[in-house]
Formats: sequence, C-alpha cells, structure tokens
Amino acid sequence: MLLRGKTAVISGAASPRGIGLATARRFAAEGARVAILDIDGAAAEAASKSLDSFSGGPHLGLACDVVDRESCMKAIDAVVVAFGQIDILINNAGITQPVKLLDITPVDWDRIQDVNLKGVLFLSQAVIPHMRQRKSGSIACMSSVSAQRGGGIFGGPHYSAAKAGVLGLAKAMAREFGSDGIRVNCVTPGLIGTDITAGKLTDEMRVKILEGIPLGRLGETDDVAGIYTFLASDLSAYVTGAVIDVNGGMLIH
Ligand code: NAD
Repeated sequence: MLLRGKTAVISGAASPRGIGLATARRFAAEGARVAILDIDGAAAEAASKSLDSFSGGPHLGLACDVVDRESCMKAIDAVVVAFGQIDILINNAGITQPVKLLDITPVDWDRIQDVNLKGVLFLSQAVIPHMRQRKSGSIACMSSVSAQRGGGIFGGPHYSAAKAGVLGLAKAMAREFGSDGIRVNCVTPGLIGTDITAGKLTDEMRVKILEGIPLGRLGETDDVAGIYTFLASDLSAYVTGAVIDVNGGMLIH
C-alpha cells in the first residue's frame, strides 16, 4: 500500500461523483487516513463514513469554506487533533462557470477567483506550519487544462485565469518550502465526467471536445485520483514544482 501510515486532507471531496471523493477512496484503499473538507459539512461527514468500506481510517468529514481563512484554520486544527499529523494536502475544491469574457460580472470574477485560487492559499497557509514542523509533506493543487490552453473547454476566461494562478502559486510554494521537506505539485486535467458542469455540458459540446482527444474518451475521476496518489506517495519523492497533465492527449506540449 502506497500511503500506509499517512494522513491526508482533501478539500472539495464530498461530491458523490467528484474527483475529490474518488481520490479519498483511492487514498483509503492505499492505507491512508483521510479528512474530507467541504463547504457542505453534512455531505463531508457522509462521504467520510462511505470510506470505511475501503481501508485506512478512521476517517473524518468536516465543514470548511476554503474562501474563509478562519474556517480553514479551524478545520485544520481539528484534523491535527484527530490525526496527530498531516502528511498530504490535496487542494481540490473548485467551481466553474461557462460564460464569455464580456459577460463576466465583478461578482462572478470574485467568486471564481476566491474558491479556485484564494482557497488554495488559505488552506495551504493553514497546513504548511504543521508540515514544516515535521520537515515533511506533499501538497497537490488542482489546476486545469483550461489554464494551459486559455479555456475553450467548459469554464470561462475567469476560470482559466484562476487555474493559471494556481500554477504560479504552487510553483512559488514549491520553491519556498522545498528546504522544509515539503513538495508542491499540480494536476491539469482535461474534461472529467463529474457534476461540476451542472447539466450545462451539451451533447454537441461533448462531441466537439472528443474530436480533440487522441485517447478518444473523456476523463474519469479515477484517472485524476491515480495521479494525485502518485504525487501524494513517496513514488514522487524527488518531484516538486511539477505540473502533470491528465487529459488524454487533448493538449500535447
Ligand atoms: P465537483 O463539483 O464534483 O466537486 C467540487 C467540490 O468542491 C464539491 O464537493 C463542492 O461542494 C466543493 N466546494 C465548492 N466550493 C467550496 C468551498 N468554498 N469550500 C470548500 N469546498 C467547496 O467537481 P469536480 O469536477 O470533482 O472538481 C474538482 C476540482 O477539479 C475543481 O477544482 C475543478 O475546478 C477541477 N477540475 C475539474 C475538471 C472536470 O472536468 N471535472 C477538469 C479540470 C479541473
């Protein structure tokens, strides 16, 4: 088991068909204790209970709004009390919105930047002091192929901008905390079948997207969970500041 004896915090992991919960299941199966943090506290608790049939555990489900720094600090303090240590942080929470540039309102801009980018800062600020004390930790941050190719998949330009910001922030964290034994990496998935599209992904959009994917299928949550597992585990012990594409060849650099 790749994560035996390790503890992990995963944000945005309560959604039943989401990437976060698929990752939590994979981590549990690899022997980790997992804390699921989500803005929906009841769903986080239910999701953590659903992990018991895998392995690892006992797991934890807590309410946490990543946009609220105090909420992040409180949740992480509770995880440290319950688990005693945090080895892995997966900054996964995110939201999107399919709009064109001229239609982005100031409120849209702020909420997309807040959850996708500021949330990564706040939760990392809450966890890093614990990792630093132990001179060890792995952080993986959720970006998107939208950051690399300027959108054109589902999310609007404000989503591309926020996810591009995540790449810069994560690389800066990798540089600053490498000497503390903390690794920081990013994943950049293409289109993954989850509920983030909220029913707004039309068949026409799907067909057009598929035409540009050499592997000929949309991504599945387990495709991303596997890469998060690699980054969380010691298999990637000498990898930091990296960006790993999980897009079926949709973007070949
Ligand atoms: P999802 O909607 O299933 O999951 C997102 C989760 O984040 C939900 O559980 C939601 O409650 C939670 N969340 C939202 N706002 C939050 C907040 N303020 N604080 C804490 N939690 C909050 O979506 P998903 O597709 O599994 O997305 C997971 C991540 O992957 C997101 O960051 C998303 O931008 C990114 N991503 C998704 C795709 C895709 O095609 N699905 C592609 C690239 C990147």
